[in-house]
Amino acid sequence: IMTRTPLIAGNWKMNLDHLQSIAFVQKLAWSLKDASHSFDDVEVAIFPPFTDLRSVQTLVSADKLELAYGAQDVSAHDSGAYTGEISGQFLAKLECAYVIIGHSERRTLHNETDEEIGAKVAAALKHGLVPVLCVGETAEDLEKFGPSAVPVAQLKAALAGVASDANLVVAYEPVWAIGSGQAATPEQAEQVCAALRAELATTLSSETAAATRILYGGSVKSGNIAGFMREPNVDGALVGGASLDLDEFSAIVRYKK
Ligand code: PEP
Repeated sequence: IMTRTPLIAGNWKMNLDHLQSIAFVQKLAWSLKDASHSFDDVEVAIFPPFTDLRSVQTLVSADKLELAYGAQDVSAHDSGAYTGEISGQFLAKLECAYVIIGHSERRTLHNETDEEIGAKVAAALKHGLVPVLCVGETAEDLEKFGPSAVPVAQLKAALAGVASDANLVVAYEPVWAIGSGQAATPEQAEQVCAALRAELATTLSSETAAATRILYGGSVKSGNIAGFMREPNVDGALVGGASLDLDEFSAIVRYKK
């Protein structure tokens, strides 16, 4: 039987410089060690700004921390005249395991299209990074099209050129729930995550759909995480604001206790 290791992912957004990231990662590592945390039960990943990644790599490798990390975006291109962009090759060299792609802030503030997001997913996979592909509807979409149509269409579009056995993570993040303090209900999250898994089975394969972790994101806190994790199609959380609060984030990771 297929089991999916839960994944708790912290998206720092544009917070914590590289010196602050060192202090934070050290404290987080102690906190998880104190709690006898095991990576086998719950995988923990953090997504600091690009400029922090080298420092995080040094800490994680020196202390053999059970902590994965990745970037918040990646270029669709390998190298060349793309001022300001960061290649997946560079992220792979820093031993990033993951990369967030298509976060709603990139879609809205940087006008990223499904096509560009698909190209970034392909670039990440090419360089051995696991994409954390974000999809989600706005409040307006929800009213117009119902709960699953927009996230499922975004998923389908982003996977157009992807191999059927691709190793990826999907994050369902309703835009109305991000940073609003108004999380979806576990039932709402389950409904969309189940629809996303069905789409993975159609677009990729049933094996890949069964193996792929689908996260919920949007105002996740220590007080609501357990409800989401009880749902059969929710395999973890993408956490924004609460990932910057050490006590909150540690408590989210320990949702079982
Ligand atoms: C996010 O931006 O990915 C997110 C889920 O943010 P928050 O937890 O702050 O709602």
